[in-house]
Amino acid sequence: MRFPISIVGAGTAGLIAARRLGELGFSPTVYDQKRVLGVPVRASGILSLSGITRLGIDYSGCETNRLHGAKIYAGRSVLRIRSKSPMAVVLDRKKLSDACYDQAQASGAKVVTGKRLTGHALDELAGRGVVVGADGAVSSVARHFGFGEIGRFAVTYKAEYEVEASESGMVELFFDNRNYPGLFGWTCPNRKDLLEVGVGLYSGNGNARAAFDRLIKTEQIASVIGSRRPVDHGASMIPMRMRKSIVDEGRRVVLIGDAAGQVKATTGGGIIFGGSAALMAANAIARNADDGTALSDYEREFRRAYGLDLSMHYMINKVYSSLGTKGMEKIVSVMNLLGLDRFLSAYGDMDRPSLILKRFFLRGLIR
Ligand SMILES: Cc1cc2nc3c(=O)[nH]c(=O)nc-3n(C[C@H](O)[C@H](O)[C@H](O)COP(=O)(O)OP(=O)(O)OC[C@H]3O[C@@H](n4cnc5c(N)ncnc54)[C@H](O)[C@@H]3O)c2cc1C
Repeated sequence: MRFPISIVGAGTAGLIAARRLGELGFSPTVYDQKRVLGVPVRASGILSLSGITRLGIDYSGCETNRLHGAKIYAGRSVLRIRSKSPMAVVLDRKKLSDACYDQAQASGAKVVTGKRLTGHALDELAGRGVVVGADGAVSSVARHFGFGEIGRFAVTYKAEYEVEASESGMVELFFDNRNYPGLFGWTCPNRKDLLEVGVGLYSGNGNARAAFDRLIKTEQIASVIGSRRPVDHGASMIPMRMRKSIVDEGRRVVLIGDAAGQVKATTGGGIIFGGSAALMAANAIARNADDGTALSDYEREFRRAYGLDLSMHYMINKVYSSLGTKGMEKIVSVMNLLGLDRFLSAYGDMDRPSLILKRFFLRGLIR
């Protein structure tokens, strides 16, 4: 049975779902409140190479850098994880949005911009077919159809400076629960001559802009950016926990991406999990149309594939967010002593802590 498929939100998750549905022979309509998609850019574009490959996005024109690892600072301790081959790519987020848009359109999806959907309009669309809520962290679709709360968010503030990073293939993470409770400060060389500096903290635990001002006054950052002015800057928010339920079978509504809370609570990265969910949701909607299989197949499949990893990210975040500077410093020192820096350099997986654990037990810590 064929029915209209309406996707609310043309972020990466919505556009990936639209592309997949188009490939499967459907003609979904994607609605976005923005007139110009992908701007302003308020998020970073760090994606694991393994993850972005799985999503099937042609990102060749979006890549601005490749990352080999991270330097993690906690008090006076530093953990350095660096692999010989690149672990991640940095993508230009506006170009990534354009690439997802082009692929969605090419597959036959229709994208309507400048249209915000709420209340009655959502009821009407759900009454006619399936509604996919891909409308981001503060989802009107989730609120309107009474999905449970996400419960925990991080607020962020980031800026870009025209300056070279001290190491062009490394991100830096600064853990300090006094100043950035719940998340961290970071730098990322978006390009050879463009350094991103940002900060994230649990919402309700302070002001992201004030935390950012503290971060750029630290010796590590001030010595690199000097008195330069940022070329672009702004605030945003990140959901830190997946919703308890992401499918309403009765009303034929499914949530994907940030609207569903499919984000790694350790880093705030959401494109890989949200994009993987988009592919699974599109496949489940197609099966529902073809043979009546329940839409909730999507939720079951997603939780089976990624539920453990998302829970592990959540637990790891919960542990480090409860530690003081001394506690974090000790953990980083012990990780260095145990040789975990070398283990993670060789076997680290940015997205899937469950795979790191498996490799840990299979290969032994120090070979
Ligand atoms: C500072 C920061 C850094 C980040 N860094 C990374 C990173 O390095 N790697 C990574 O993987 N992830 C990162 N993320 C997370 C990532 O940006 C998100 O997980 C991802 O963009 C979510 O995509 P989405 O399509 O689910 O939602 P969104 O990108 O939020 O898209 C939702 C869309 O819905 C539209 N919309 C909302 N409401 C309505 C409505 N009622 N009607 C119509 N349209 C509506 C919005 O205009 C928007 O275009 C970061 C986030 C932040 C804030």
